[in-house]
Amino acid sequence: MKTMGRALLFAIILGMVVPAAMLAAEKEQRHDVVVVGAGIAGLSATWELAQKGFAVAVIEIQPLYGGTATMSEGALCIVGTPEQANAGIVDSPQIAFNDFMTYGSDPGGSGPDVEWVRFYTNESRREIYDWLFGLGIHFEKNPVLMPGNSVPRWHKVIGKGRGLVEPLYRACKQSSTVQFFYGHKALSLIKGKDGQLTGIRTQRLKDNVSIDYLAPVVILATGGFQGNRKMVQSYWHEKQPLPERILTGAGINATGSGHDIAQAIGARLVNMQYQWNYSTGLQSPSDITGSRGLNAFSQQSIWVNKAGRRFVNESQDTKVTFPELIKQPGGTYWAVFDSAARNSFFVSGWSRESIEEGLFNNQQSRQFVKSAPTISELAVAAGLSPQALTETVRGWNDMVTSGNDTDFGRINCCRTPWSNPTRIERAPFYAVQFFPLARKSMGGVSIDRSCRVLDDSRRPIPGLYAAGELTGLAGINGKASLEGTFLGGSIMTGRVAGRAAAAELATQRTP
Ligand SMILES: Cc1cc2nc3c(=O)[nH]c(=O)nc-3n(C[C@H](O)[C@H](O)[C@H](O)COP(=O)(O)OP(=O)(O)OC[C@H]3O[C@@H](n4cnc5c(N)ncnc54)[C@H](O)[C@@H]3O)c2cc1C
Repeated sequence: MKTMGRALLFAIILGMVVPAAMLAAEKEQRHDVVVVGAGIAGLSATWELAQKGFAVAVIEIQPLYGGTATMSEGALCIVGTPEQANAGIVDSPQIAFNDFMTYGSDPGGSGPDVEWVRFYTNESRREIYDWLFGLGIHFEKNPVLMPGNSVPRWHKVIGKGRGLVEPLYRACKQSSTVQFFYGHKALSLIKGKDGQLTGIRTQRLKDNVSIDYLAPVVILATGGFQGNRKMVQSYWHEKQPLPERILTGAGINATGSGHDIAQAIGARLVNMQYQWNYSTGLQSPSDITGSRGLNAFSQQSIWVNKAGRRFVNESQDTKVTFPELIKQPGGTYWAVFDSAARNSFFVSGWSRESIEEGLFNNQQSRQFVKSAPTISELAVAAGLSPQALTETVRGWNDMVTSGNDTDFGRINCCRTPWSNPTRIERAPFYAVQFFPLARKSMGGVSIDRSCRVLDDSRRPIPGLYAAGELTGLAGINGKASLEGTFLGGSIMTGRVAGRAAAAELATQRTP
């Protein structure tokens, strides 16, 4: 051990990279199955395996469970629920199927995966709603209508992301066969002499000890890659201009490590160019690196580019606004609004008090939150042309009064406050700067209908499964998401992977 420690130190001093596979494991542990990642997908898979009594090792780099879901809104796309029926909403798997296929279609690309969409829309009630309900998870009364959906089907869990994850984690913990190993980073899959998968090599972060978790079956559930700027940029859609600055708004460890691990043993990556990035990225005031962003907006604002001009119907969702944003000079815009709209400024995951203290009354935010008593002074503060901004705001106010957005058709276009705006006229005025926000992955490790990982020849890699955002949610979104499909898709693929792995283990046990 001492020799290896010295060798490692030597390698680090020399700046050498030591390939994970070359490190000898100092310890070994044997289980029936290893699940990598204790996010919603990993927990869903673990629950299935626990029901069958398999010995599961859950490997998690963080010191706690939950992953990205804990910072999420906890909202799920589900079809045919009691909440919909109680609200008088008529929905069906066929209506939902058509919505998924229409919204995510990509004439120049592959679009949504038909089989998985069929499964999701047919089974979301049973696989997601009924299952969560059975775990004690409940939903708010009125499902919300999100873009691309014909009817409201965005169901918010009471207690948001934590309200979703905690009961599931407790249910997994109840099983004596499930063990969680926190603070362990999965490095690489291990193969035996016969080429068969035998487990995963990890690094225990507190002391850098290398531990091999041995099992004939491994489920990777490490999340997406939107937290890895290099990957986001290198897989950027070839038909879209690459913005100068992209803020990171994904889960903390959604860095694509599972993609690398799977790819190293021959897994195929698919649809990596389908990225669900937001046009509403606000630099996080609490992040000193300036790289992390928050999803934020005011539904009363207009968005102006560096020339001080509007460029899009601001009420549209990111499928429409994002491509327009990245065409603008510098890939940025200022959201302009007045004091009457300040109270409705929204930052995802933040309370009203946090927004006031953390944004409007915070020295750190001065760089991207400007205010002034007149539009002209606001323009100067934001580095815009006073004449252009004054003209834009005047023109907008006239359109609000006449009830007709002759430039982009926003007023009265849809059923949200965005399309019922008020005039920008009450001082002080505000301008908040926005950038593209990398958020969720819709492409990833290729899997079949049993969540078996496929290689370049589309053959399953024996013993290897993947679930959740790592798989781009099995391609259910295609090029655009109806929202709520990430948590929903993570649960679905997690459960499918867990059941398929259990079935494979059961056959191995049968004499
Ligand atoms: C702010 C925010 C709000 C969101 N709101 C919603 C919403 O309301 N509805 C919706 O549908 N979607 C939402 N999403 C997306 C959704 O939360 C994620 O897609 C989903 O939680 C992904 O689950 P997962 O289990 O696949 O991955 P994750 O939750 O990312 O879990 C992966 C786990 O693996 C661990 N891990 C990663 N690499 C390693 C490694 N090498 N070794 C060991 N462990 C590792 C991570 O620490 C993590 O715990 C939101 C996302 C964000 C960022």
